[in-house]
Amino acid sequence: MALRNLVLEDDPLIRKTCRPVDEITPRIIKLLDDMADTMYFEGRGIGIAAPQVGVLRRIFIVDVGDEHGLIEFINPEILETSGSQIDGEGCLSVPGKTCEVERPEYVKIKALNRNGEEFVLEAEELLARCICHENDHLDGILFIDKSVDGKIYKADSAED
Ligand code: ZN
Repeated sequence: MALRNLVLEDDPLIRKTCRPVDEITPRIIKLLDDMADTMYFEGRGIGIAAPQVGVLRRIFIVDVGDEHGLIEFINPEILETSGSQIDGEGCLSVPGKTCEVERPEYVKIKALNRNGEEFVLEAEELLARCICHENDHLDGILFIDKSVDGKIYKADSAED
């Protein structure tokens, strides 16, 4: 088990655009494992993106506690979205803050898994929200940029 240090919202790294992964090396596999350890640490998160641990690569993982369990996305690309949902979000890189964010109700996304195999996933509700939140991190976008009412509130519970 290896925890990585979290990059927080005031660090310029969290605002960078991430580069695609060219080759899935042992270093990338270790990164995926460490990201999961970091996300699950004290049960804090339901998703984490590589830039949140200081690696500017297009990788994120999610586990919203549904039947999918842990899902790893390398070089993800959102193919389709539809509908709309508004709910509160949080983020491991933005501790103690929450706000309401509008997201698609449905997303279709393709990515590579850790074996370099392409997969397509259709997600709804919380999983769709989480995927959009994490995918935004790869372009330096934070959920607080998208507050529906422009307000940021104090949070005390689940973060992703
Ligand atoms: Zn986040």
